[in-house]
Formats: sequence, structure tokens, C-alpha cells
Amino acid sequence: MKSLFELPDDMDKALNEMVRRQVNENLNKWLTPLIKEIDNEKGEFIVTTSINGDKLRVNIEPRGFSEGLTVRIKELLPKLDTEDSVKKVNVESSFDKLTNTDWWEQYMINAFPFSCAKNSEERMLLQVNVFDENKVVRSFSKFKKFAHENLPNNNIDDILLRTEFDLAVSSVVMIEKWKRIWEDRDLDPYMIYECDNCSCEICKELNGLTMPIDDKIAQDIFPPNNFHCTCSVETTDEDSNVISGSELLKYRDRISKQFQGNVGINGIFR
Ligand SMILES: [Zn+2]
Repeated sequence: MKSLFELPDDMDKALNEMVRRQVNENLNKWLTPLIKEIDNEKGEFIVTTSINGDKLRVNIEPRGFSEGLTVRIKELLPKLDTEDSVKKVNVESSFDKLTNTDWWEQYMINAFPFSCAKNSEERMLLQVNVFDENKVVRSFSKFKKFAHENLPNNNIDDILLRTEFDLAVSSVVMIEKWKRIWEDRDLDPYMIYECDNCSCEICKELNGLTMPIDDKIAQDIFPPNNFHCTCSVETTDEDSNVISGSELLKYRDRISKQFQGNVGINGIFR
């Protein structure tokens, strides 16, 4: 008896990998008693998924079982194409849920612009290999060696590769930072933008700005805000000089579209 959990290839690869793992782990657990019950039958479960807005939908269809058994399986299977039933089988894969997972998963749902990659598989290969098997950042020289060895025909520009590597690393730093400030926002509800030595004009203007952590526009301004951005934020409970909402639009709109968003929530670099 085999159950077949295959996700469609056209799903974004980073998300695909992560969802595949979670679907496998959780659905296998849930389907085991059912599979035991029909142990002598040949057939498979076709699992399809789709993303509707920001929700993952999972649908399970028994195939190749005798007709009577298919009816019985369908009776046993709850309707799996609704949001509630997805939660029921504990496929914790909606983006909402992912905002509470660790930095690695958050990093993986971001698509980083490794421009020497010729397709999404190559991009993913580079993205994953910014880190070693212990999820520790590799040195750039090791990463560069890896890229040249694994993508030998890609005419890699090392300066560009360095820029993109740096963005991936600074993003992970800010993903972790976001998680901490979000958890502690009841104590320190504001963040102060800190730009040390960013060469970008907009970062210099943002320096010192105090914004509410739970403000949607402020979240779009959360660094990194360009490829070489080394900005960060500090938190405070001091509410003087707080700028929020539409007052922040003039700042946000000057950040390039690619960097508007928040890596700690679901920011995706394209
Ligand atoms: Zn910056």
C-alpha cells in the first residue's frame, strides 16, 4: 500500500519543498490507520494542493481502489478542500501559520534573487547553500566555490553573487530580529530605525524614525531596504515622535518595490 503525496511542480519551489515535507509528515500520520484498514488493496491516494489567496488547500482523492472501497474511503476521508479540514489534518502550511515558524522556514519562503541561476531549481540550490548542513552561514569564499562548481556553465559574476549572498544573510538576521520584536511588542511597541553606514539615501532619511511595530506601513519599511542594506531597528516603549500609517507612505514609496515588505512576515524578493 502506497500513498502518493505529490505537489504540483508549478508551485514556487521554496514553498513547494517546505509544504511537501509538512504534507508528508502530517498526512502520513493521519492516513496510517486508514491505510492499515485497507491493507490488502492496491491503489493510491492522489494528493493535490493549490494556493488560494494566502491559504493552502489540500485535496485527497483515492484512485485505483475497487469501487466499493473507493466509496468507503471517501466516507472516511473528511472533506479536505476546506480551510477547516486542512487544519484538522494538521497541515500547518498556510502563510498565517508560517509566520510563527522558525527563521529557516521563513527564509525558505522568500525567493532570493540569485541572478546567475537559470531556473528556480538552481536558485533554490544557491539559496539553501548560503548555509551549511547545520544551518550556519558559509563563508562567501565557500559559497562562491560551491556556486562555480555546481553551476559551471552559468557565467557567474562574483561581485553580483556577493551582493546577493549578503542580502540573503542580512535578511536572515532581520527575520530573527523581527521574531523577537514581534514577541515583545506588548513591552516595547515601537521600533526606531537605525542606519549605521548604509550608502542608500532613503535609509539615511529613515534613520531615527520611530514607528509602531504593528503598523502595516511601518512593517513595509522594516529593513533590509536595498541590496547592501545593513540597517536594523531598536525597540522602545517611548511614544513621543511616533510616526505611523499614512504619514509613513512618503518614506515607504521611495523604497524600491522589491524591498517593500517584511522578510520576517512574508517578504518575497523578486
Ligand atoms: Zn539600509
